[in-house]
Amino acid sequence: MQEEMIKSEKSKIVSEMAAAVAHEIRNPLTTVRGFIQLFGTDDLDKQKREFYQKICLEELDRAQLIITDYLSLAKPDPEIIETITINDEINYLSNVLMTYANYNNIQINRILPEDHQQLRVVGDRYKFRQALINIGKNAIEALPDGGVLEMQAACKNGQAVIIIRDNGIGMTPEQIKRLGTPYYSTKEKGTGLGTMVSFGIIKKMSGKIEITSELGVGTEYTLTFPRVN
Ligand code: ADP
Ligand code: MG
Repeated sequence: MQEEMIKSEKSKIVSEMAAAVAHEIRNPLTTVRGFIQLFGTDDLDKQKREFYQKICLEELDRAQLIITDYLSLAKPDPEIIETITINDEINYLSNVLMTYANYNNIQINRILPEDHQQLRVVGDRYKFRQALINIGKNAIEALPDGGVLEMQAACKNGQAVIIIRDNGIGMTPEQIKRLGTPYYSTKEKGTGLGTMVSFGIIKKMSGKIEITSELGVGTEYTLTFPRVN
């Protein structure tokens, strides 16, 4: 009974997410379509053409990021459990978020272990990526006037630690408590599902989540996973 409820809740979330994604992708597509039509105009000077092209590329990147954000939900089970190297995933995350960060005037800093130590954990790579992308995306969205997003990999007490830090708007203790619960969002276009998806994935990997935040100062997510060789 309970399992059925969870299942139906899950498919409800997936279909609502699908609707939200469709909506968010339609906007950039409409913009790109309009500009491609403009390309057909005869008296278009080079400067304008380059400007339109730049917008088109940015809009397509945005659409791609939205798809990336929800990738793992669309991916059917069973999961493929493998060894994941955190250092590589931090680099991947930084690349995926780069366009979104540039768009918002945000600098991404990566901090990897100084001794080039490779930190490995076990889990489904695509879900793990999804978990990090959703947290990183929130950090970027917490920096409306630009700022710094830091992604750090470290070994602490023999465990693999990932820290995602922003110097953005921050949260109150009450807001922190609501993280990970479905449909909690303070954003106009938020789905309120990002942290729920992330936390679910991290917990399934036996990971621990710690969040510290202060209004107007910033937020720090510390994710701790069992380390493997
Ligand atoms: P959404 O991003 O669609 O709003 P999420 O589940 O990803 O949904 O996040 C829920 C809420 O948690 C956000 O609306 C925001 O208020 C808050 N939040 C999450 N991460 C941060 C952060 N790094 N800084 C400030 N607020 C955050
Ligand atoms: Mg989010």
